[in-house]
Amino acid sequence: MGKTSKDKRDIYYRLAKEEGWRARSAFKLLQINEEYDIFKGVLRAVDLCAAPGSWSQVLSKKLRQNTDNVDDVKIVAVDLQAMAALPGVKQIQGDITKVSTANEIIQEFEGSKADLVVCDGAPDVTGLHDIDEYIQSQLLLAALNITTHVLKDGGVFVAKIFRGKDVTLLYSQLKQFFEYVTVSKPQSSRNSSIEAFVVCQNYTPPPGYTPTMANPLLDHKYCDFNEFTGVNRFIVPFNACGDLSAYDSDTSYPLLLEGQTTYEYKEPVQSPINPPYKEVLEMTKNLQINK
Ligand code: SAM
Repeated sequence: MGKTSKDKRDIYYRLAKEEGWRARSAFKLLQINEEYDIFKGVLRAVDLCAAPGSWSQVLSKKLRQNTDNVDDVKIVAVDLQAMAALPGVKQIQGDITKVSTANEIIQEFEGSKADLVVCDGAPDVTGLHDIDEYIQSQLLLAALNITTHVLKDGGVFVAKIFRGKDVTLLYSQLKQFFEYVTVSKPQSSRNSSIEAFVVCQNYTPPPGYTPTMANPLLDHKYCDFNEFTGVNRFIVPFNACGDLSAYDSDTSYPLLLEGQTTYEYKEPVQSPINPPYKEVLEMTKNLQINK
């Protein structure tokens, strides 16, 4: 492929190089900002899944414009991949779904919380849409989990989302924590892609909510859930139904049950119509006939 063909096909790829951004993704964050003014008054931010770093570049530029003292600005960028250094951006190399990485990020904001958390995380797509959407949603939940620890009340969370068939569940999970949840598709995001960005404004966790490490993808031990209290603890009722003197499904019973004198084997009422093992059964039968 010629050197210029991608420049022809992808205007944002070309512009990114011309304007000095490390990736065309920079335009997505800039266009989201044009609509929602997400950098207004922001001095402290987290960039999750940040490599190669164009969103961190945007953050660095915009946040420095909000103050006369660059020391007021704090940006923490996290990614699985190493990232070339950027002025004023602290880097953490790690997996955002791991408790150890989450704790490292949280420590950075102990004392003074972040005004903004952004996450452009994308898994390596498999091409199997359901699986890709599921992994993407788990990444988003891991990002949300970190956000609940580091974001100040009233803060903003922006994250990549795949608009798959189960996306409304994610919207309602986000709505538990933010007053406004909007989905945004920047011009620079290809129409052929199911990616969009949730813009979640005014962080307002439920009254009494204490951030925990409870996220399906995080490597916590499941017994941790038992330690939750108050609104964090949701106990699902367990109901054993049926007559307790009925047969126990885990016990073997004699063929002659109480009160019976004869036993007669009966075929199942309906055999499977086309079971996956049908072919093997037929092959075995043929082998026996041919012997
Ligand atoms: N916003 C970035 C920029 O502007 O340069 C581009 C991000 S790129 C689309 C997606 C990134 O997500 C990749 O760098 C990948 O390594 C990262 N990623 C995927 N899963 C991750 C995980 N579990 N933890 C940390 N980073 C992850």
